[in-house]
Amino acid sequence: MIREAVKFLADTIIAEKNYLTMLDTKIGDGDHGLNMARGATAALEAMEELDDEELNAKVVLNTVGKAFIMNVGGTAGPLYGTGFVDASKVINENAKLDVETLEKVLSAAIAGIQRRGHAKKGDKTMLDSLMPIKESLQKSKIDGEVLDKALDSAMTAAREGVEFTKTIAAKRGRASYIGERSIGFEDPGAVSSMILFRTFCQFLKENKLI
Ligand code: ADP
Ligand code: MG
Repeated sequence: MIREAVKFLADTIIAEKNYLTMLDTKIGDGDHGLNMARGATAALEAMEELDDEELNAKVVLNTVGKAFIMNVGGTAGPLYGTGFVDASKVINENAKLDVETLEKVLSAAIAGIQRRGHAKKGDKTMLDSLMPIKESLQKSKIDGEVLDKALDSAMTAAREGVEFTKTIAAKRGRASYIGERSIGFEDPGAVSSMILFRTFCQFLKENKLI
């Protein structure tokens, strides 16, 4: 099932290539979709090197992360790659899919992205959708919410995070070059993070895993 999940996610990112690139044209250099599609294609190729017996979330996250780091130029690719690799470090081979695990994995990914990129919430980056997702999952964990409800809340938080990026000026990455003129546009990386999370949730629902 994990192979299908990676394929579903990669295919969706590849399908969103032009949309993400269009968003990056408004406030950056118009390559975010290309970068993400390149990473997704490299991830699919790397997955082919793995035998079915060795497939688990830990190995897959590490493989996908390395594929992004090694094959994608630009800012977002290596940052996503670091996020995936760092996420793989905190997950067990036989981890259960629950709110706690997801929150732990996402926290590690965010810590990795911040270690490399030094951005914080409100800088108009991918963190502006990733951090609201994490905070929502944290709250759901404390409230003892079941997974599907927690994912719905986290998805709402991600959408709100993307909307929020329209209201602020970029402080990191290429969009920071145009500063205040980036206001009014959503951040491409925040959108790609939201799409990745939305697609993950969709996969779980369509395959009756939640
Ligand atoms: P580049 O900016 O090099 O052209 P991309 O277009 O692929 O690379 O990615 C741009 C996205 O990267 C931005 O929309 C933003 O979300 C994200 N980004 C840029 N700098 C940082 C950073 N320091 N920390 C986190 N995310 C960042
Ligand atoms: Mg760009």
